[in-house]
Amino acid sequence: MRVGVPKEIKNHEYRVGLTPPSVAELVAAGHEVVVETRAGSGIDFDDQDYVAAGARIMGSAAEVFANADMIVKVKEPQPGEIALLESRHLLFTYLHLAADKPQAEGLMKSGATCIAYETVTARDGSLPLLKPMSEVAGRMSIQVGAHYLEKEQGGRGVLLGGVPGVAPARVAILGGGVAGVNAAQMAVGMRADVTIYDINMARLAELDMFFSSQIKTAYASKAAIAAAVRNAHLVIGAVLVPGAAAPKLVTRDMLKTMKRGSVLVDIAIDQGGCFETSRATTHDNPVFEVDGVTHYCVANMPGAVARTSAFALNNATLPFVLRLANLGADAAMAADAHLANGLNVSGGKIRHQAVAEALDLPF
Ligand code: NAD
Repeated sequence: MRVGVPKEIKNHEYRVGLTPPSVAELVAAGHEVVVETRAGSGIDFDDQDYVAAGARIMGSAAEVFANADMIVKVKEPQPGEIALLESRHLLFTYLHLAADKPQAEGLMKSGATCIAYETVTARDGSLPLLKPMSEVAGRMSIQVGAHYLEKEQGGRGVLLGGVPGVAPARVAILGGGVAGVNAAQMAVGMRADVTIYDINMARLAELDMFFSSQIKTAYASKAAIAAAVRNAHLVIGAVLVPGAAAPKLVTRDMLKTMKRGSVLVDIAIDQGGCFETSRATTHDNPVFEVDGVTHYCVANMPGAVARTSAFALNNATLPFVLRLANLGADAAMAADAHLANGLNVSGGKIRHQAVAEALDLPF
């Protein structure tokens, strides 16, 4: 198959759909790959790296789309890219259509087959192509939290791990899923005093086994969260109720009880946030303060570590890209129901029930 990789054009997006090592895998499997010039320049993959991996460099996105059957991207296509899509194209990328009717209508009009990373499933019901980004955001949450606890950043002036003779900072992690566990691993590594709160008792039992005495676990009752927030120096919001807005676990009243200069990192902001006082921020201006508490609420945290994120995303997507290229979309989806769950749009119609319901469009 002819596989195309355009340069991402969304503001501040430096990731790229295929890294040079992924291109080399596709070329070794007998596929042709075309890459837009400077597609990976933001994360130090230059055109020569892609050529060495076996790709041909194209001067524009239009040339990439014209010379490819499958388009592999990171972010949802922007209007200029949708205009380049034809019915013969297979598009494989994050789409997040449920909240984006204009994009859904544009993709329907193109007639292209569009498979969304975020709805591909795994046998255990998890979302394998979302997981790497939760891992990145979870790990990052502790390093940004530690940074904003520093005095010159408006923080309390507390070192996460303490030192001999001085107690470590207390870190409360709300939600012990993928992001929460990765946050806990980093916080434990920095020797903080870590407690994970969740409502899923089976999950808490797993975490208790996994971390042993390195962390504490607690059922996420309102009272437990109120006490956690009052005592913590750093609170990480990492809850998810699939398909729903994040529950507001930390209320404005609870915030008032927090220590001045403590920090909240709301990873769940992409689902509306789990602190009542959260509002989405950007990497240009990532924090704001309410009642003396720093809020970090960046909705695309992985973008800050775009090189790591591009490799992590490719590790997860490459097996699916190879299957789609080897078999073609129809046969690949017929052979793998989990990949088929990724199908959002084809033949001018919405093909994913939840997306159709969210958009109030026929399925
Ligand atoms: P996950 O499904 O692996 O884990 C979520 C956890 O929250 C589960 O263990 C669940 O039991 C728990 N939970 C649900 N309701 C709860 C409640 N009321 N109290 C306590 N715990 C509760 O999800 P994940 O992959 O870790 O993702 C977490 C969030 O991070 C999602 O909203 C995801 O979209 C978001 N995310 C954000 C970014 C970003 O850049 N901001 C990046 C990646 C992921």
